Amino acid sequence: MAEFSLIDRIRQRAGSRPDVVLGIGDDAALIDPPKGQQLVLAVDTLVEGVHFARGVPPSAIGWKALAVNLSDLAAMGAEPAVALLALTLPDDDSAFVDEFAAGFAALADTHRVALVGGDTTRGPLAASVTVMGYVPKGSALTRAGASAGDDLWITGTLGDAAGALALWKSGLPMLRTGRLRDRLDRPTPRLGAGIALRGLATACIDISDGFLADLGHLLAMSGLGADVEADALPASPALLEAFPDPLLRRELQLTGGDDYELCFSAPVARREAVRKALDAVATPASRVGSLVAGARLRLFDADRLPLPLPARRGYVHFAGSGA
Ligand code: ADP
Ligand code: MG
Repeated sequence: MAEFSLIDRIRQRAGSRPDVVLGIGDDAALIDPPKGQQLVLAVDTLVEGVHFARGVPPSAIGWKALAVNLSDLAAMGAEPAVALLALTLPDDDSAFVDEFAAGFAALADTHRVALVGGDTTRGPLAASVTVMGYVPKGSALTRAGASAGDDLWITGTLGDAAGALALWKSGLPMLRTGRLRDRLDRPTPRLGAGIALRGLATACIDISDGFLADLGHLLAMSGLGADVEADALPASPALLEAFPDPLLRRELQLTGGDDYELCFSAPVARREAVRKALDAVATPASRVGSLVAGARLRLFDADRLPLPLPARRGYVHFAGSGA
């Protein structure tokens, strides 16, 4: 049967780990969690035409379907362990599955993630990945827990993926968007940074829907506001080159989405400790503002002059549906 030969192709790249007692092949997977660890679980779905365009290479879809989930584990300070993959395919396309599985496995192997099960169905192209990881009991990072006065930090750079999309929508072939396109197709989850920030960050979230939108979630859960210096938002050399207009660039960085960087808070007294911890895992980070009492978010430029908040703060599913 075709379904089974497709599953076999995926199984060949599934990987293994000592805590996986049973992987692909039985009715469910069986895991032996290490003592003293809490399980951390997340699921995210990528749908063709919504999360990626038709024509994106299958290996990039496989990579990204796992990456967006590992980014959620990173934001919790978790170490990833296993994944489940629910794949919906329009037809019995073994070449697609091989390439998809290669992209998925390239990232999974880097982080010693074993694929332990899933489901394969026919329908419009979509990939839903569930991940499970571990965190020492009580040491997970959450969106709540920040205090007024804490520094606000961002890992890496913002706006690259949104920049690639903007170039593509303006008619530039995707192939010519270079480094920016890499960030869109093959985001790098900040797993090392998340683990390094255990015991240092007071709150943490990954930036998937746009910096302002996701910062808004952290602020709501922590019951705080923030003063953000828009000009301190880190930009890559590729973004600076492709978007010399500072207003357009700032908009991409504030609201673009698909960055998969970590946005976190930490006490001012731990600035050096944060720097050291992130240096040790080769993760660049920038301080972009501070948390304040109250619920308002204010933007400033480099001269401390207030800037208007963009009308749209990030990507919204079900916009206008009342949901
Ligand atoms: P069941 O009918 O019991 O759900 P399936 O025939 O759907 O079992 O799957 C057989 C085995 O293959 C199970 O272990 C399942 O987890 C695994 N599997 C199916 N599809 C995938 C997939 N896309 N990726 C990884 N494992 C899969
Ligand atoms: Mg099944």
